[in-house]
Amino acid sequence: MSTPAASDLWQLSVAEASRLLANREISSVELTDACLERIAAVDDRISAYITVTADIARQQAADADRRIAAGDASPLTGVPMQIKDLLCTNGVATTCASRMLAEYVPVYDATAVARLREQGAVMLGKGNMDEFGMGSSTENSAFFPTRNPWDTSRVPGGSSGGSAAAVAAGAAPFALGTDTGGSIRQPASFCGVTGLKPTYGRVSRYGLVAYASSLDQVGPLARDAADCALILQAIAGHDPRDATSLPDPVPDYSAALTGDIKGLRLGVPREYFAEGMDPGVRATVTAAIDQLAALGAEVREVSLPTTEYALACYYIIAPSECSANLARYDGVKYGYSYQDDGRGDVDMWEAMERTRQHGFGPEVKRRIMLGAFALSSGYYDAYYHKAQQVRTLIRQDFARVFEEVDALAAPVSPVTAFPIGDRTDDPVRMYLVDVYTLPVNMAGLPAMSVPCGFSDGLPVGLQLIGSHLTEGHLLNIAHTYQQATEWHQQRPGIPHRGR
Ligand code: GLN
Repeated sequence: MSTPAASDLWQLSVAEASRLLANREISSVELTDACLERIAAVDDRISAYITVTADIARQQAADADRRIAAGDASPLTGVPMQIKDLLCTNGVATTCASRMLAEYVPVYDATAVARLREQGAVMLGKGNMDEFGMGSSTENSAFFPTRNPWDTSRVPGGSSGGSAAAVAAGAAPFALGTDTGGSIRQPASFCGVTGLKPTYGRVSRYGLVAYASSLDQVGPLARDAADCALILQAIAGHDPRDATSLPDPVPDYSAALTGDIKGLRLGVPREYFAEGMDPGVRATVTAAIDQLAALGAEVREVSLPTTEYALACYYIIAPSECSANLARYDGVKYGYSYQDDGRGDVDMWEAMERTRQHGFGPEVKRRIMLGAFALSSGYYDAYYHKAQQVRTLIRQDFARVFEEVDALAAPVSPVTAFPIGDRTDDPVRMYLVDVYTLPVNMAGLPAMSVPCGFSDGLPVGLQLIGSHLTEGHLLNIAHTYQQATEWHQQRPGIPHRGR
């Protein structure tokens, strides 16, 4: 490949950028400037960033160039990235897309961010999202909705919608997102990029602002599986500051990309093709599974009978954990405080109440109330305890099928990107968008979203699900598919449309 023109550098994948940087054919300052110019050119159309850290990015890029010149480079040295605004960044506002934390500036980096910074990756800014990660469309951001680069009248998915939209639009070579019930995979699917939710505990949650601690996981969104492998390599591994992080050694993920899936036993869960799904999604995902069979996978139908309970179970467990985690926002220690609004004439209890009333958006309040109800005395056994029992059944379902197959293939979502405003009045319709992603979080499994075609001009994602710690395996299936197809290389035209 010849060296691209400076103005085209934003089009590079992580792997291409890494190679050109290492060969000193381009500098990180040039690459970073090209990405910042791309953000300036397109972000008024998609609103993928809450904060753009241009000065910090240029500084970090200059440092990366010095490091490369000194022969001290890692694969991500000098490669720009966007960070979801749910991950703490030292000295840079981390709002969680909430009024509650609109002014919050952390004094430390989340471990996943710190590891990328240690490698010399360059931070372009912070990604828009649903408030505290609660939502499926990025419409629950307290600041503004993000728009889908394929059709700016539609949502990018969520909650990591800013991350997926940025990568799809070339406004970041890669992004770090988080996934509690689908928030990496579903926006990746809606925007036509590749996303990976690692095994629970594979990546440290230290510095990730907690939503539902037993489900939250950090992972990459990028153009393809090979790029995801490079990013996962940098962020995975045990962290003494996260008691739930796994001690298992981190394999070489790029080495796992053999491009060979002959003999792979691939299960297709019947329950993931339920009635009511978009026929275009069904046809596209089915064609992708046929392609995997043509590449050597042995495809067989399997059953995950507890799938139908997963949504109800998730919407007890996630809000319960949310209500406990978000109790800390009382206007006393940090974050928005009603009293600091110049209305210091109320007593302590009223100040706390008003702080939460004004600081949280409607969906976050709904989750807190649902959770507080499910955990309350007299209801705990009927709801929370029952949901935990169902969670065990869901886990057992997956464990059973992984005795017969090596991985599962399914849709990411039953639908494609929907129009902005289409589901905001009906929370249950919004929740249903994640019906095929959240069982994976309940079981703590790794899963990916891989672009596999279009339905009515909108991207469709193929979901690949593996048993614990099989990220290398999933990345290889996705990589093999991407070697044979070009869906992941399609780029949106980003239509102009008023906000
Ligand atoms: N849409 C789901 C929810 O609102 C999942 C969000 C996520 O994964 N953070 O809880």
